[in-house]
Amino acid sequence: MSEAIKVTVWNEFRHEKSNAAVKKLYPDGMHAVIAESLRAAGGIETRLAALDDPEHGLTEDVVNSTDVLIWWGHCAHGEVEDEIVQRVRKRVLEGMGLIVLHSGHFSKIFKAMLGTNCSLKWREEAEKERMWNIEPCHPITEGIGEYIELPNTEMYGERFDIPTPDKLIFVSWFEGGEVFRSGCCWERGHGRIFYFRPGHETYPIYYNEQVMRVIANAVRWARPRGFMEHNAPNCPPLEKLSPKDVEFGKAGERQDVE
Ligand code: ZN
Repeated sequence: MSEAIKVTVWNEFRHEKSNAAVKKLYPDGMHAVIAESLRAAGGIETRLAALDDPEHGLTEDVVNSTDVLIWWGHCAHGEVEDEIVQRVRKRVLEGMGLIVLHSGHFSKIFKAMLGTNCSLKWREEAEKERMWNIEPCHPITEGIGEYIELPNTEMYGERFDIPTPDKLIFVSWFEGGEVFRSGCCWERGHGRIFYFRPGHETYPIYYNEQVMRVIANAVRWARPRGFMEHNAPNCPPLEKLSPKDVEFGKAGERQDVE
């Protein structure tokens, strides 16, 4: 691989401070565990950002030097400033990759990218999940077998109110009977977006090697191939135009009528 992929791992980072069970699992935050695993995967540089950092850790400099942004949020989606959401959204449309994890389905940035409600069913009973890999030749499932089994998870069930994914990668089955679209790809503007379901804060999901392999694969898939602004340029013709024998006028130019 050429240059290292620059990943910013964003975490709301509240449950780790207020809930003893979560703090025990992730003493330095989920984002720290995710970042460490990505660095170990190779070819990836990581940076951490959290809700309570100035500008949520997502200054213009940070956003503009990020190739792929990973997002985990849950209880404080509403505290994310709209200005920062717009900054991130603009950069995704220009080419930055975005990976939204688990309860990030209700984040402002995910809804802003997809334009739907992103609602789903849920139940917290530590039930078993079998997440089926339905695209075994896709780069995101490289090295992943037929399915990933997680012994204790929060259930997420359909209907998941998202636009139909460009590519559906994983479908989960839960012990209680529900199914869920757990791995979804979209393109928006020049950016690639991946939603990945696993990651409830009270279960050790981000210590699971297969889960982290999927996230590392998704980082490589979502890496920008280039950045391009969308500024609607007015452009001169490539060829010489024929003379027109009628005056048509131009949009936006005032022509007073007597
Ligand atoms: Zn959860």
